[in-house]
Amino acid sequence: MSIACKVGGCSSLVQPELVDHVLCLDHFLSDIQERSSSFARQLSADGPAGPLRRAVIQFIMVAAAKIALIGTENPPKEQLLRGRLLNAMLMLAELREHFDKAAASQAGP
Ligand SMILES: [Zn+2]
Repeated sequence: MSIACKVGGCSSLVQPELVDHVLCLDHFLSDIQERSSSFARQLSADGPAGPLRRAVIQFIMVAAAKIALIGTENPPKEQLLRGRLLNAMLMLAELREHFDKAAASQAGP
């Protein structure tokens, strides 16, 4: 059973690890990249409080677990996609750093 990526115009198939997202690896990584940037902007604007705090932590944990699963169980064959997979993991690490800094500055000295 093969499922096609839900992004309009994309004819790539969804690999088993991403069936719950209904995205091909390429679009899954783009989605992570966009959401990381968006969360980083929101953190800068609003600080790491309330619902945003939970949303960021949950996003990082779920996305990192998924990337680790793909990277160890079913890594892409193309070098470019391998690089993007690693890059997505680094983006999550940076978002986490950003979050910790924002949390520290909010807590005060
Ligand atoms: Zn796609």
